[in-house]
Amino acid sequence: QAKQQGKNNYQIYHEGMAVQTLNHLALESDLRKALSRKELLVHYQPQIDLMTGAIVGVEALLRWQHPLLGFVSPAQFIPLAEESGIICTIGEWVLRTACQQQRDWQAAGLPPMRMAVNLSAQQFQQSSLATSILQTLEETGIEPQYLELEITESAAMRDVQFTTSTLSRLVDLGVQIAMDDFGTGYSSLSVIKHFPLHTLKIDQSFVRDAPHNSSDVAIANTVVALGRGLGLKVLAEGVETAEQVEFLRSIQCDFAQGYYFSRPLPPEAIAPLLISKQVTG
Ligand code: C2E
Ligand code: MG
Ligand code: MG
Ligand code: MG
Repeated sequence: QAKQQGKNNYQIYHEGMAVQTLNHLALESDLRKALSRKELLVHYQPQIDLMTGAIVGVEALLRWQHPLLGFVSPAQFIPLAEESGIICTIGEWVLRTACQQQRDWQAAGLPPMRMAVNLSAQQFQQSSLATSILQTLEETGIEPQYLELEITESAAMRDVQFTTSTLSRLVDLGVQIAMDDFGTGYSSLSVIKHFPLHTLKIDQSFVRDAPHNSSDVAIANTVVALGRGLGLKVLAEGVETAEQVEFLRSIQCDFAQGYYFSRPLPPEAIAPLLISKQVTG
């Protein structure tokens, strides 16, 4: 089964406990070595202003090129990295790599643009987070307003008071905050208003079947209206078709990100897009 699925697929994972446990251990130990072996990479996916069509930022997305398994998706190894605690080291590495990339692009003459970086739930809980981010900003010399930290709605909802105070400390550094996968984490709307946010990212599950599925249309509309009411920007994730773009424009969603515009790409492949500031979507 696993072989049929190709070596990129960790399908074997689901076949029996013993195999699963063995794989789990092997993968975890591989992951520990991945950083020093330089198997981890960061790809970048453009974020588009729906009104102008211009690229206004990129999201940094972690990639693992495993020597035997090939490409392992972050959806598979981030949960593992969370469990084993290595996520904090990896997360700091992603942040530094993304900020260095931003600095390099600026040094090459590109105008500064938003760099969005995902924070894991564990990273978010580290008391040293704000200090570590400040240090990275100082080391790389990038302006804090161009860094946007993404926290998932489910991570944010674990402890609302803690989230509020942690986000406030981050915002004090001058960085922006996005709520990722919005709509999937059971936020109460009264809680959202306490978080110092800049962007709501509509989860791709609500974009996928829009504009045909009327529930998804209603949800997308509601998130955009909520964002507008709270003074936040709204970005739609997982945009794959011209029809979705048209729909999102019609409801005045601010930004979009998805395969329709560009897949996440290695830095050398995305640089030409950033120079032209446009993607042919
Ligand atoms: P996310 O932050 O919500 O990122 C969006 C995911 O959607 C990415 O998957 C991206 O490649 C994918 N995507 C973008 N456009 C489309 C589209 O048009 N259609 C579809 N079907 N998918 C699209 P990816 O890169 O596999 O990452 C999965 C998740 O792993 C991310 O979801 C994020 O939660 C996590 N992740 C990725 N990089 C990092 C990281 O550096 N740190 C942490 N803590 N988590 C990360
Ligand atoms: Mg994200
Ligand atoms: Mg998301
Ligand atoms: Mg996601």
